[in-house]
Amino acid sequence: MKKTQNILTDSFKREHTYLRISLTELCNLRCTYCMPSEGIPLSPKSHIMTFDEIYTIAKTFVDNGVTKIRLTGGEPLVRRDVEVILKRLATLPSELSISTNAVIVDRFIDTLKECNINNINVSLDTLKADKFDTITRRNQFDKVYNNLLLLIKEGFNVKINAVLIKGFNDDEIIDFINFTKTLPISVRFIEFMPFDGNKWDKAKMMSYAEVMTLVNSKFSEKQIIRLQDAANDTSKNYKIDGYKGSFAIISSITNPFCDSCNRIRLTANGHLKNCLFSSTESDLLTPLRAGKDITEIIAKTVKSKSKIRGGMDTLEKLESPDLHGKNRSMIAIGG
Ligand code: SAM
Repeated sequence: MKKTQNILTDSFKREHTYLRISLTELCNLRCTYCMPSEGIPLSPKSHIMTFDEIYTIAKTFVDNGVTKIRLTGGEPLVRRDVEVILKRLATLPSELSISTNAVIVDRFIDTLKECNINNINVSLDTLKADKFDTITRRNQFDKVYNNLLLLIKEGFNVKINAVLIKGFNDDEIIDFINFTKTLPISVRFIEFMPFDGNKWDKAKMMSYAEVMTLVNSKFSEKQIIRLQDAANDTSKNYKIDGYKGSFAIISSITNPFCDSCNRIRLTANGHLKNCLFSSTESDLLTPLRAGKDITEIIAKTVKSKSKIRGGMDTLEKLESPDLHGKNRSMIAIGG
């Protein structure tokens, strides 16, 4: 295994081997929890990383110990040159994966295979078409549902990401778990997180404990199997005995997993964020364009990473719009 160089190790000795790259701020859905209804001010096109710049920055990270890259957005597949980017990044000695809303993923099956992209996370918050329209503000449920089944049929390792919002889709938790009975997928329930303009309210968040109380009321203790979580896993993994797939909870709010965090994020305009929740970021693109060495900036950004959730170490701090409101919207970070 490749050794992580010093520049990706922070002051709490966490090694950052996992880079998430946002390819675009654009999306073909308008999920209410992800972006404000009025949209977000987009970066000028000239401020967005070109495919060459993405490759150069990604290579710097891989040369320094990154072993896993996930492409996200916005919706990564709406970027015009996405195929070129996938093919370039696939030449790096690092695992490549993608998060998508799956609306147009059927157009990319061959490219994904050619680039050895096996792990695909699909965002899907409901199994009901009318609710899908409400939460995404777009009428694309059938496309997404059929594409999800297509990805499974084509042999990809598929995880569904479902953000749980009380009163909206908490009544579908068991339906989602039953979806894993015959399908070899993992459904991951994500605790609703606060970002700029997403009208977060703790009362709307369905916690890990609440999900498990519900699961325990529907299945017997013997049926619920706690699976071994992978190293650096953000999710607590379970399965129902005899079911083909599994389910998990990503509890960034009630049970943060910062101790084992190995993630670092690059936004579409080439800024480095050392934490999903941090309100600060470092511009890598301007110095790169000026021909400067970016490793020093990367090292500084990694070193300054807070111990917990961008410094919001209590639920009270996280709840404060003054604090979480300084962060970008999720669509502009890349989840
Ligand atoms: N378009 C791609 C997709 O749909 O997966 C990638 C970008 S999307 C921002 C990445 C993930 O962030 C999605 O799974 C989405 O559900 C999640 N997400 C966005 N806003 C969130 C929030 N407020 N709380 C929890 N998860 C959120």
